[in-house]
Amino acid sequence: MQQLTCIDPNKLEWRDVPAPRIQGDGEALVRPLAVARCDIDRFLTSGLFPLRGPFALGHECVGEVTALGDAVHGLAIGQRVVVAFQVSCGRCKTCAAGRTALCEKLPTLSDYGMQPLSGVEYGGMLSDLIRVPHAEAMLQPAPSALEPARLASVSDNVPDGYRAVAPHLAARPGSELLIVSHGLPSIPLYAAQAALALGASRVDFASGDAEQLALAERLGAHPIETDLATKPARTYPIVVDAGLSPTGLHYAIRATEPEGLCQSVSFHPGPGVPLPMGRMYTLGIRFHVGRCHSAALLPEVVGLIAARRLRPEAITTRVVDWKEAADAWPEPAIKLVVRRPA
Ligand SMILES: [Zn+2]
Ligand SMILES: [Zn+2]
Repeated sequence: MQQLTCIDPNKLEWRDVPAPRIQGDGEALVRPLAVARCDIDRFLTSGLFPLRGPFALGHECVGEVTALGDAVHGLAIGQRVVVAFQVSCGRCKTCAAGRTALCEKLPTLSDYGMQPLSGVEYGGMLSDLIRVPHAEAMLQPAPSALEPARLASVSDNVPDGYRAVAPHLAARPGSELLIVSHGLPSIPLYAAQAALALGASRVDFASGDAEQLALAERLGAHPIETDLATKPARTYPIVVDAGLSPTGLHYAIRATEPEGLCQSVSFHPGPGVPLPMGRMYTLGIRFHVGRCHSAALLPEVVGLIAARRLRPEAITTRVVDWKEAADAWPEPAIKLVVRRPA
């Protein structure tokens, strides 16, 4: 089968590789129909993380089940499914508690398309087939009436934006909220959309990126154009930090009101980033950081999309045909979706 493969920094090519096979009775094979590029993907192919040889690309997709092990219940051949980007068993204590990013049965960072991070090749979604080792835990049925491109980013970035705001708005209903965006193209926009859908009374969006600010405004957020080096004009009970720069992180913490909550969805590679612990202690600022638990979030998020309360397609800025993936994948876009011809 064909698999889009990163062979060197910024060098992608379609390769012929053996098609995966079912290896256990709880497994499934899925044919990806539409694949989205995650905010981390351009960093994976740029060489920011050292390559450990060629690796398969893509970890956000909606697809169709083509084969099922004998022990899989609740799924059918031909069914439309969103695939969790993290591999998880669904049965261990951690999975049962909803922390499916941290399944005890698998090495840390067991994800599709992220071999440079985990060292393990689980395959990539820009392939004709992927193997799903724990089908019931990792596959979420999705309405086939929804065009696949709309659901392509639901494996990862859509629930990542959602979980950044949902529990905090549930604890403080109707709050005003600030998103601080500094280097992640789509997750902060999914967070803004989710916050508005979940009843935030106001969503401000701070960024230095004109295209992102314009899109945030179209979603209903209030754009704040800033280089993030200046002091925030006000504080908020809930702040989302989404980006890669320590300057942006410090802006987010400064913008959090006393006893407020700052949720970070950011990954900082390399040595530690200093935090203003004196300020955070004195003002009682709660700082949350961690990965999104994809499999656990999918039922909720797919339900909100089916009910048209979340509209991820509003954040998609580029859709290309499957055969154009190798050329389009490295090019900038807030959200790129690759789809097979119908
Ligand atoms: Zn991702
Ligand atoms: Zn598990």
